[in-house]
Order: sequence, then structure tokens, then C-alpha cells
Amino acid sequence: MAESSGAMRVEVVSPERVLFSGESTQVITRTMDGGEIAFLPGHAAFLGALTENHTRIYLSDGTIQNLAVHLGFVEVGPDRVTILSDVAELEEDIDVARARAALARAQESSRGETDAATESALRRAQARLAACGGTESSH
Ligand code: ATP
Repeated sequence: MAESSGAMRVEVVSPERVLFSGESTQVITRTMDGGEIAFLPGHAAFLGALTENHTRIYLSDGTIQNLAVHLGFVEVGPDRVTILSDVAELEEDIDVARARAALARAQESSRGETDAATESALRRAQARLAACGGTESSH
């Protein structure tokens, strides 16, 4: 179908609510098996499981909506991308101090033997900080 071929509908939904809905030209997210992956309009049908990640939704107005998405699924069709996730936050809703504190706690408990819960807490905090501009790194 040749209707407004440069854009697609993107929705980020949890069982409780629609976190984001809008027109987008590209979505970058991270799957468990495939690493970081970009979806453009016209992409073949795709269903993937997501890992904790910094997701970027390139909006049709040229801005970028950053999000942290923690597990869930991405479902893609030629004119839409749907992200289903129990836990996801828009950049503007992320409490950076809380994420930094969570990162510090997870780093502390990952000294010595690490467990899966600590590792996923680490990845959640890193995804939140990356979605807010990569503040977990040196600056
Ligand atoms: P914390 O140790 O700070 O609670 P967490 O990774 O254990 O972090 P989760 O269990 O993943 O937290 O999330 C619990 C709820 O709190 C979810 O609704 C999630 O969206 C929200 N949340 C967690 N951390 C933040 C944050 N830094 N900013 C905004 N919302 C957050």
C-alpha cells in the first residue's frame, strides 16, 4: 500500500495503558537474540522478545522519543511497530537519581558472585540512564 510510505504507527503498551502512540520513521530497540535492531516503514513481519534496553522512536516531526523498555515483545508489520512491555518508561518520566541509586546498589551486589536478579537490575538501571542521555557514563 502506498499511503504515506515514509512513516509508520508506533505504540508502546502495557496491560494497563498506552504509554506512547505516534507516527514514526524509525524505531531502534534491542532483542534478546538479535541485539540492537532498527525497524523502518515497510519492514517484513517480525516478532521478537526484548531485553532491557534504551529504545529510540524517531518521530515524523524530526524529534526522538527515548524510552527504557524492560523485557516484553516487539511486533512489526509494514506500517506499524507495537512494543508490549509490563515495565517501560518514557525518558521524561524517568527519575534519574533513583536509577543512579539502583545502579549503585546493583553494582555493589554484583561484586563477588552475581545472580540473575542483580544482573537484570543492573540492565534496568543502565537502560533508564541511557534513555536519559547516557548519564551512567563518565559525564
Ligand atoms: P528500584 O530499585 O529503583 O525500584 P527497579 O529496577 O527494581 O528499580 P522495577 O521493579 O523495574 O524497579 O520497577 C518498578 C516500578 O517503578 C515500575 O513501574 C517502573 O516503571 C518504575 N521505576 C523504576 N525505576 C524507575 C525510575 N528510575 N524512574 C521512573 N520509574 C521507575
